[in-house]
Amino acid sequence: MWRGAAAARLLRGRGSGNAGTPRPASGAAAAQLRQRLERELDEIRGAGTWKSERIIASRQGPHLRLAGGGAGACGAAGNALPRLLPVRSPCFSLSLPAGIINFCANNYLGLSSHPEVIRAAVEALEKFGAGLSSVRFICGTQSIHKDLEEKIARFHQREDAILYASCFDANAGIFEALLTPEDAVLSDELNHASIIDGIRLCKANKYRYKHMDMQDLEAKLQDAQKHRMRLVATDGAFSMDGDIAPLKEICQLAHKYNALVFIDECHATGFLGPNGRGTDELLGVMDKVTIINSTLGKALGGAAGGYTTGPKPLIDLLRQRSRPYLFSNSLPPAVVGCASKALDLLMESNAIAQSMAAKTQRFRSKMTAAGFTISGKDHPICPVMLGDARLAAVMAEDMLNRGIYVIGFSYPVVPKGKARIRVQISAVHSDEDIDRCVEAFTEVGRKHGALP
Ligand code: PLP
Repeated sequence: MWRGAAAARLLRGRGSGNAGTPRPASGAAAAQLRQRLERELDEIRGAGTWKSERIIASRQGPHLRLAGGGAGACGAAGNALPRLLPVRSPCFSLSLPAGIINFCANNYLGLSSHPEVIRAAVEALEKFGAGLSSVRFICGTQSIHKDLEEKIARFHQREDAILYASCFDANAGIFEALLTPEDAVLSDELNHASIIDGIRLCKANKYRYKHMDMQDLEAKLQDAQKHRMRLVATDGAFSMDGDIAPLKEICQLAHKYNALVFIDECHATGFLGPNGRGTDELLGVMDKVTIINSTLGKALGGAAGGYTTGPKPLIDLLRQRSRPYLFSNSLPPAVVGCASKALDLLMESNAIAQSMAAKTQRFRSKMTAAGFTISGKDHPICPVMLGDARLAAVMAEDMLNRGIYVIGFSYPVVPKGKARIRVQISAVHSDEDIDRCVEAFTEVGRKHGALP
C-alpha cells in the first residue's frame, strides 16, 4: 500500500509545476558523456547525413497537413537541405501549399487510414484492452494473436506464423535461432539493415554476395558446400532501388546446392503478384521459398508489427528460442486488429492492389516520357535517378514548395553518384495526384537542370 505521507509527497511533487522540467544528471561522467555525444552529433551534421523528422499533423494518407510547415531540413540521410520557408502558423506553414500530397510513405495500399481498419482497431482496443503487460509465453497471448497468426499463414499459404513487435525484430530473431556454427548464411550485399544485424547476431559462417549477382551467389554456394546447411537470405524487393530479387534463379541455385531460401517481403506483401502474396507469387516460386519475414507496418494497415511464416517446426522453434519474441511485449490488440482487417480486405479482393499497380504504371510511364530515369520495374517504389546529391536535395525541397512531399537520398544511404528522389505510389493517390507530381517534377527538373 502506498498510502500516507509517501503517497502525498509523490502526488504533491507531480502537481508542483516542476513536472517535465529536465534535470540533467550531475557528475563528471555525465558531463564527459554529454561532450562526447555533442561532438558525435556535430560530426553527423558536418558529414551532411543528419536526418530530420517532419511532423505530420493529420492522419497518414495521400494528403497531409504538416505541423509547423516542417521548418528545418528535410528527410533522409544525405539531405543537407537548406532551411524551408518561414513558419507562420502553429500547425501549418502558410508558405507551403495547403494540401501536401504525400509520396514518401510505405502506405502502398492506403490502408493506414482505411475506415474499416480503424474501426477494427477501435473494436479490438475496446474488447481486448490497451495491451498485455506481458510477453507472449508468460501472460500475453490472446485469441486475436492466434487468429492473426493463422490468417498470415493462410495468406502466404504456409504452415504457421509467429508475430513480433516489428519485422526488425523478426529479422533480429530468426538467424540466431536457426543457424549454428556448422551452418552458412549467404546474404545479398544490399539487404536491409535488420537482416544484416540479424545475421551479425548468429554464429553461422557468413557470405555476402554481390547485389542480385547470380554468378557470385553460385560461387559462394559452392564454397559453402562444406557447411551442414545453407540459407540464402534476400529482400524480395529492395527499398532503395525498387528492384526485385531474381527469386526464380535464386531458387534454382538453392535447389542445385541444397540450400534454403529466406525472403524479407516488407516491400512486397499485400501487393506484388496476382493476389498480392508477394515476390514469391509474382515469380512463381511460392513452393520454393522456405521462410518469409514481413511487416504489418507498411501495406498491411501500417500500424506496426512483423512476422515469420514458414514450416511449423521452425515457428515452434522460434517460439522457444527467438529472443525478440521471448523477451518483448506482445503486440497490442489495436495493432493486431488493424493487420487482421487489412488481411481480410486483401483476401476478399485484389482490387486495391490493382489500383496501386495502375497508378504506379501511370507515374513510371509519364515520368519516363518526361525524360526522367526511374529505377526498378513495375514497383511502387519509383526512384527518380538524379546522380548529384545536392540536386536531389534541392529538387526535393522545391517539390515540397509545390505541395509534393518526396524525399531525396544520397550517400551513404545509396552509393556515391547515385543520388535520387524516391517516390512511393499508393492505391489512394488519385490520377490527378500522380499527374500533379509529374508536372511538379518536370517544372523543378527544368529549373534545376535535371531536364533539358
Ligand atoms: N525489412 C525491410 C526490407 C524494411 O524496409 C523494413 C522497414 O523499413 C524492415 C525490415 C523493418 O520493418 P519494421 O518497420 O516492421 O520493423
